[in-house]
Amino acid sequence: RVKAAGRNGWQFFDSSMARLVEQRLDMETALRQAIEREELRLYYQPQRSLEDGKIVGAEALVRWERPGVGMVPPQEFIRLAEENGLIVALGNWVLQAACSQAMAWNKAGMPLRIAVNVSVVQLQQPDFVARVRSALKRSGLPTRCLELEITEGAVVADVLDALDKLHQIKAMGVELAVDDFGTGYSSLSYLKQMPVDRLKIDQSFVRDIPNNADDCAIVRAILAMASNLKLQVIAEGVESEDQLTFLHDEGCQEVQGYLLSPPVNADSFIARFRDAGRVAEASQ
Ligand code: C2E
Ligand code: MG
Ligand code: MG
Ligand code: MG
Repeated sequence: RVKAAGRNGWQFFDSSMARLVEQRLDMETALRQAIEREELRLYYQPQRSLEDGKIVGAEALVRWERPGVGMVPPQEFIRLAEENGLIVALGNWVLQAACSQAMAWNKAGMPLRIAVNVSVVQLQQPDFVARVRSALKRSGLPTRCLELEITEGAVVADVLDALDKLHQIKAMGVELAVDDFGTGYSSLSYLKQMPVDRLKIDQSFVRDIPNNADDCAIVRAILAMASNLKLQVIAEGVESEDQLTFLHDEGCQEVQGYLLSPPVNADSFIARFRDAGRVAEASQ
């Protein structure tokens, strides 16, 4: 196409490149301001136990309520924020906001585990462990109610430093989960060294169960390995009853996905799930 258009084609290409650079800079400026102007929002997606059907946790997922644009999903700004370092301020905000929300639910009789996504860039910060400690202290949230989700790749960059921080966080009583499990580039030898409590089976392996034999085999293998390593497993992206039945029959402990609920704001979450938790039932 560029060739056919000749000189003008190249000019067109140049100006569209310039436009992309400009868009990126605009986005960067806007994102920087978004944090100061409090345009970030947390949505929460419930996590259900397959042992008793109760809601046991919630994953906090960030959105950007961009004026004039609407709710911007994380895929559109997390990568950029990682590249320009804004993810550190953004991630600190998420951590603090999620802990405060979980503490509010705790006080309201809904003591859920709150799962917070942590970027590898955050984990690389020298003060990351202190940040986690401070978010817990400021919110008053019991440490066992916080779970950090990291990806397999998070420990590959600087293995010793990352493992040291994860061990410190684990020692505080915070739980650790491996997000998108099975999709990273790391090997099982990293997993063996990581002080994790839970694996999150990536939604790409969940999508085609129980029909795809390969995916069924992969999910069974993850469950068998986790069981032997004494790790819990949560499946993400559960959208159908058939998937749920398969995961239940194969011994998966927890599920998360649109079948139960998409991520919703804090008000909708408490309205819908107030009475679905373990303690809520026990106190009735
Ligand atoms: P993730 O941590 O793997 O989160 C799961 C994503 O799958 C969420 O997308 C969720 O809305 C979506 N999902 C949940 N159930 C289903 C389902 O049944 N079917 C399908 N197709 N999708 C489902 P979301 O909220 O757009 O977040 C995308 C990714 O952005 C997250 O993937 C995570 O990697 C990243 N992210 C979100 N919030 C944060 C954050 O606060 N910090 C960092 N560092 N990353 C975040
Ligand atoms: Mg996650
Ligand atoms: Mg995931
Ligand atoms: Mg994902």
